[in-house]
Amino acid sequence: MISEKLLKELNRQITAELWSSNLYLSMAYFMEHQGYPGFAQWLKMQSEEEREHAQDFASYILSRGCEVIIDKIDVVPLGWGTPLELFEHVYKHEAHVSGLINELMTIAKEEKDYATESFLWKYVIEQREEEDSTSAIVEQIKKAGQVGLLFLDAQLGKRED
Ligand code: MG
Repeated sequence: MISEKLLKELNRQITAELWSSNLYLSMAYFMEHQGYPGFAQWLKMQSEEEREHAQDFASYILSRGCEVIIDKIDVVPLGWGTPLELFEHVYKHEAHVSGLINELMTIAKEEKDYATESFLWKYVIEQREEEDSTSAIVEQIKKAGQVGLLFLDAQLGKRED
């Protein structure tokens, strides 16, 4: 069994992943409305990935014989400004999620729940990759002029998963 304290935090992570999914979907529609279908496509794929994370956490909780509880999903912020401002926020959000995963890992270690620790390792790696890829997009946008931005939009629009 997972301890009560850790189970509460794992369930909280499901809600956080679903919030992230809504955040990126909302950003996708914002970008589409601004005339950047490629950035929108990338954000929609990111949104789906967060939803998969939520389901993966839920499957893990069930596999340990515990109950999954999905809490209220708060509204996400609106109005993102330029693509640079939006992706700077994406990067900051991923860094924030890395902190949440680290906190979960700390509790798993304290509770000597090695199964959960092992489950969480892939998210430690995942978050390192997310921070890397989203900061790379921020740097590319900074270097791009208006034409470069359209090129980058076309590139990111190729994302399929
Ligand atoms: Mg995630």
